[in-house]
Amino acid sequence: MTVAGRASEARRISVERDRCVGAGQCVLAAPAVFDQDEEEGLVLVLDGEPPASRSDAVREAVRACPSGALALR
Ligand code: SF4
Repeated sequence: MTVAGRASEARRISVERDRCVGAGQCVLAAPAVFDQDEEEGLVLVLDGEPPASRSDAVREAVRACPSGALALR
């Protein structure tokens, strides 16, 4: 399977909140999937298994996260 083929599949999001630094890059990249809590600004996952139509945005969020708090499984 090619990387491009995998990119179109829905994936499960893994979050390590203790690594989140509240930079908000994930929310900018995929606002339908990520949010930040009001107290500390740490990441909240709104949709842990987003549809394939959001794969590009989710992959961009994972790539852009400066702390490595996000991963796709
Ligand atoms: S981009 Fe990473 S560090 Fe920033 S809010 Fe999202 S998970 Fe946290």
